[in-house]
Amino acid sequence: MTELADDELDRYARHIVLPQLGGVGQRRLKASSVAIIGAGGIGSSAIPALAGAGVGRLTIIDDGNVEKSNLQRQTIFRDDQLGRPKAALAAQYASALNPRISADPVQQRLDSSNAVELLGGHDLVLDGSDNFATRLAVSDAATKLQIPLVSAAAVQFQGQVGLFRGWEAGKPCYRCFVGDAFDSDDCDTCAEQGVLGALAATVGSFAALAAIRALAGIGADVAGKLFLFDGGALEWRTINLPEDPGCKACNPPRDGEEDRFTVE
Ligand SMILES: [Zn+2]
Repeated sequence: MTELADDELDRYARHIVLPQLGGVGQRRLKASSVAIIGAGGIGSSAIPALAGAGVGRLTIIDDGNVEKSNLQRQTIFRDDQLGRPKAALAAQYASALNPRISADPVQQRLDSSNAVELLGGHDLVLDGSDNFATRLAVSDAATKLQIPLVSAAAVQFQGQVGLFRGWEAGKPCYRCFVGDAFDSDDCDTCAEQGVLGALAATVGSFAALAAIRALAGIGADVAGKLFLFDGGALEWRTINLPEDPGCKACNPPRDGEEDRFTVE
């Protein structure tokens, strides 16, 4: 496995001293690549956390430009960057924070036609996009590619984070959880409902933690659990998600049945 240089031993000293992580876990992070969908409220806290932690390669996928109304929660961007592309700025932020990693911007909108191409070759996908259609396209591609997915969402005072490996027997994918009704519907974007900035940051940081522990091999496997945060009550709770035996994305076709994948 890839070794750590002297300056990396210094940089990651507070990680390496952790018995659950150590030098082995840190080298695993260095060898890992993560695709992040959305440089929004969730991405803005997840990206610095992953970059600082030394995840070796980040791909940041976002087709938007910085808007004034982003700055309340997307705190990696500055007021003097209005109108500039978020993917490129977020990648610059990550590289400036940790020159030891690589961060590649992809200024494209991810959908079901390009998701497999954009996500292929990564070790984990962290989805912080703001609508069901994108989240389902990400999930279907991650399931098909057999890449673990950390899916995170925040709206108003509510947050949710789940780790999905839907291709495994008995494990749900994100589509098992939400169903097929939202494939072409942006009904849940936070523009309409609002979101507290610190709530989005909490959820993004939690998603980064879920990604880091999965990549480094820390703790129990949480695939199939959904973590729900109520920012009004300041309470987390955990539920177990069942696999949907009729799910068109993760339930494998039986003998003689057509492959029911909808992604190209
Ligand atoms: Zn499924």
